[in-house]
Amino acid sequence: MSGLLIITGASAGIGAATARMAVFSGWSRVIVHYGKDLDGANETASVVESMGGQAYVMAADLTKPKQIEKMFAKISDLKPGPIGLVNNAGIVAPKAGIADLTPERVAQVMGTNVLGAIEVARQTVLLMRGWGNGGSIVNVSSAAARLGSANEYIDYAASKGALDTFTLGLADELAPEGIRGNAIRPGLIETGIHGKGGQPDRLDRLGATPPLGRPGTADECAEAILWLLSERASYCTRSILDVSGGR
Ligand code: NAD
Repeated sequence: MSGLLIITGASAGIGAATARMAVFSGWSRVIVHYGKDLDGANETASVVESMGGQAYVMAADLTKPKQIEKMFAKISDLKPGPIGLVNNAGIVAPKAGIADLTPERVAQVMGTNVLGAIEVARQTVLLMRGWGNGGSIVNVSSAAARLGSANEYIDYAASKGALDTFTLGLADELAPEGIRGNAIRPGLIETGIHGKGGQPDRLDRLGATPPLGRPGTADECAEAILWLLSERASYCTRSILDVSGGR
């Protein structure tokens, strides 16, 4: 599909990998959204441009609805044609059992992974309706939604369960408009998220446990995302694709 692809959290990890491969997949313009890591976003943007695409680096803290709204006003000014959304940005919190899930921590996890993602999807749908060209949405959930992540981060797992359910309803609502909504559930993927959550050795400990015997890469997630977004997946909506090595 050609057109404008919005990728949240494209300064690192799975979002950055998706942006790097987006031009190859036919997206000519890419919104490289970031929260705090401007250097990472600029690096992603330079790869997009080196492949002949046009990159737009845009900041917004996804826990702040006003910042999301402002970003979408800027995107609207770009006169988008067909629009794609990779609703990817997300966080984990440090390993903890139920007793240590403070309201502040849970609010941060839910605020980013659920409220932020829903608001980004809402703004994207308004944009799609405004421009009348349909489009496609892929939410980035997690295998944690199935596993529950006991004694690690059940708040995070619950946030991704919410995103799965949101994907189902969103797809149902948008299908009559020709807009497809899907999700992927990555498993243990080699990105910086584990270190940010205080477990830099997480993949050393767990990486070999999936049936395929290794962790996955951000590029392997990007492949699945870009396929679901594309017309090659034209009969897929409401699908939640595990990219988890069988885990
Ligand atoms: P990452 O930490 O490398 O990237 C996360 C991105 O989200 C970053 O660009 C970060 O800036 C952005 N972000 C986080 N909070 C934000 C906020 N409040 N406002 C704006 N941007 C914000 O992580 P990743 O591994 O690439 O994760 C991407 C998605 O994949 C997340 O939703 C994560 O839950 C999901 N996921 C990752 C794994 C894994 O093992 N890496 C597994 C399952 C699901």
